[in-house]
Amino acid sequence: MARIVQKFGGTSVADMDRIKNVALRVKREVDAGSEVAVVVSAMSGVTNQLVAWVNEAHKLHDTREYDTVVASGEQVTAGLLALALQNLGIDARSWLGWQIPIHTDGVHGKARIQDIQTDDMIRRMKEGQVAVVAGFQGVGPDNRISTLGRGGSDTSAVALAAALKADRCDIFTDVDGVYTTDPRIVAKARKLDKITYEEMLELASQGAKVLQTRSVEMAMNHRVRVQVLSSFSDAPGTMVVDEEEIVEKQIVSGIAYSRDEAKITLLKVQDRPGVAAAIFGPLADSAINVDMIVQNVSDDGRTTDLTFTVPKADLDRAVKVLEAKRGDLGFQALKPDSNVVKVSVIGVGMRSHVGVAKQMFQTLAEKSINIQVISTSEIKVSVLIAEEYTELALRALHTAYGLDAN
Ligand code: ADP
Ligand code: ASP
Ligand code: MG
Repeated sequence: MARIVQKFGGTSVADMDRIKNVALRVKREVDAGSEVAVVVSAMSGVTNQLVAWVNEAHKLHDTREYDTVVASGEQVTAGLLALALQNLGIDARSWLGWQIPIHTDGVHGKARIQDIQTDDMIRRMKEGQVAVVAGFQGVGPDNRISTLGRGGSDTSAVALAAALKADRCDIFTDVDGVYTTDPRIVAKARKLDKITYEEMLELASQGAKVLQTRSVEMAMNHRVRVQVLSSFSDAPGTMVVDEEEIVEKQIVSGIAYSRDEAKITLLKVQDRPGVAAAIFGPLADSAINVDMIVQNVSDDGRTTDLTFTVPKADLDRAVKVLEAKRGDLGFQALKPDSNVVKVSVIGVGMRSHVGVAKQMFQTLAEKSINIQVISTSEIKVSVLIAEEYTELALRALHTAYGLDAN
């Protein structure tokens, strides 16, 4: 008997009609004889609204209370789906993170799952009960609700699939698979039948929202078979697989973008040993992730300009942390800029091919798009550009790398 985890994202549970549609999909899997656990997101738009209310209540809010508020969306959909399933004659029960329990490290707002107690759930699933689990949440060592970062229901699903030793984890969303780039921006984006864990990880971490980065990390570590597919059609989806399973390897397999980063430039920072540590240390202590970094060559040997990116959501906090250290760091001015987008081209083929970065810079130059920051890894090249060029850059690069659908 197969054991399947199905995850339904926000658009798939956006209203009662869609929740009923989801219930029918779950029923199909149950009727096929599978043991099923379902993970649900909040109705689309709900988490954004909850986050906005939290920010309105307190701009530099206590993350424990943030979690109390933003985790509530998933509670509603878990209960509603359990009811819709019961209405179809299926034995179903909803579960919140603390009830299972799903233990996390308790870092509020971006907690990591540490373990999931599945004994009771497995016993019930064997008796034919469907578990409907609220995604995005767990319980921390402080015994409080902790959420897993935006898009975290994907991670709830993959973690649950790993803990349940499920045969497959189906991620149902509003597109029918993983595409060469966001199909909502590039109409010529092509659906991939398969993508490697590694490329999916890079795509996700560079902003492709279709899977949360940690969910891919977890799938890779626990070898969970993840499939991305649409809850609105029966089209085959995309399987995330090992590299050996891909016969025809592309040099560039996908392009991602992220509007979630902001740029900070520190002007005239003292150019002496220890300054980078003095800047990035306090940011790390405040749990602010720094991504791209450029330090310019010092003009006068005494001061230099330093540019880096932080999550847009952490920009205000980052500025506050740095301004508080202004005396020690001795920079002349701090310039925040949230009008930026990071565009990344990704492909395992880059390991053995040169010229990918050159082609990227050339393509952007032809469109007169200025590159502000560059960073590279073994299988990706990223650039930071002004946000207004997002669509233009993505379409031009998609064509330049030969990814357009026929
Ligand atoms: P859900 O609410 O189901 O979790 P998300 O909005 O988080 O859905 O993720 C699905 C969205 O991801 C799609 O609607 C699409 O716009 C976006 N997306 C970005 N990059 C890609 C890609 N490479 N392939 C498919 N979808 C992508
Ligand atoms: N509802 C949460 C969010 O919007 C989690 C998720 O949908 O995966 O980020
Ligand atoms: Mg999502």
